[in-house]
Amino acid sequence: MRFRGGVRINTAARLRRLPPYLFAELDRLKKEVQKSGVDVISLGIGDPDLPTPAPIVARLQEAARDPANHRYPDYQGLERLRQAATDWYARRFGVAIDPAAQVCALIGSKEGIANFATALVDPGDIVLIPDPGYPVYYAGCVFNGGEPYSMPLSRQNGFLPDFGAIPEAVARRAKLMWLNYPNNPTAATAEPGFFRAAVDYCLGNEIVLAHDCAYSEIAFDGYRAPSLLATPGALECAVEFHSLSKTFSMTGWRVGFAAGNAELVAALGTVKTNVDSGVFQAVQEAAITALGGPDRELRRQCDIYQRRRDRALETLWACGLACDRPKATFYLWVAVPQGFNSAGFARHLLEKCGVVVTPGSGFGRHGEGFIRLSLTVADERLDQALARLKALQLSS
Ligand SMILES: *Cc1c(COP(=O)(O)O)cnc(C)c1O
Repeated sequence: MRFRGGVRINTAARLRRLPPYLFAELDRLKKEVQKSGVDVISLGIGDPDLPTPAPIVARLQEAARDPANHRYPDYQGLERLRQAATDWYARRFGVAIDPAAQVCALIGSKEGIANFATALVDPGDIVLIPDPGYPVYYAGCVFNGGEPYSMPLSRQNGFLPDFGAIPEAVARRAKLMWLNYPNNPTAATAEPGFFRAAVDYCLGNEIVLAHDCAYSEIAFDGYRAPSLLATPGALECAVEFHSLSKTFSMTGWRVGFAAGNAELVAALGTVKTNVDSGVFQAVQEAAITALGGPDRELRRQCDIYQRRRDRALETLWACGLACDRPKATFYLWVAVPQGFNSAGFARHLLEKCGVVVTPGSGFGRHGEGFIRLSLTVADERLDQALARLKALQLSS
């Protein structure tokens, strides 16, 4: 990029620390396939197709009419929203947190995750990051001059990091560790005892522990995902990030919250006070309605994802593809067949059946060998995609 006089515009070096955008080639191919007249079905993006429950929408409509909500909101979030988050924690996890000091409203948890790195990471600090993982952990680290250190998630380990494999020299320089269960992209859940081991490791090595809990409510077969904060000692070193996006099909609304150690929540708040001005108050009112609402609607949504999961698995298994049955999230993490890598198999599915999936390698080096399917398309579309896969005769 250049100024009019021909002088080069130098963007910040941190932008060049991001990994290459792996989906560019796939995006190009998708447009090409579409142009050739194929009705492309995308199972690529984790964005609920189900609408936000009606009472939440109604509350927004009502709150948007109130001029009191048209002004700058309070930085930390409405007291009543922080109270609603606290009540939800107590009801859902049996965990007591202080709404005045241990909760902060977020403009979606992605914002909080990125800003938390700004609050914690100095140049040269190591950040322990699950690989494969949600890309914002990495971006937040390198934007602040940190050094990402990958914790591989492998199928043999149930897609849980092996803390014993982290070298002592790395642990000594590590400032922050990210975890995410139920997990995107692997759909793995944390085994009992895992959070205990994580808190012990982080307290022992003086590492701040951040848990991304975006999928805690998208669960099946009676599974109830735990909160990290229920682990004794967690409030000494940890913060948990919640999002209303997946739970209540509210991805476009931009609202979530962080809860945990008061000093860490305050540090995040300091960054936020300086870079944003909070969540539109009418959206906060709607979020209060969501958090206090009946679980019936959530159950109904999870039942839909669960049915889709089972139908998709049936097809994948019939095709000879290996995929564990996940207890949570709306993703399937599928091993690619012999002779393909992640990107190659994603390309193959797009070219041969007009179905978009996400190559696992886009989530980190250790995502290689897998693709991620998202169950967030209407039932008919999913069935069409599955019928095309079935006709493909993948098994050899
Ligand atoms: C979707 C998602 C988020 C963030 O969602 P927001 O819409 O920003 O609240 C965070 N972490 C993971 C793993 C996600 O998949």
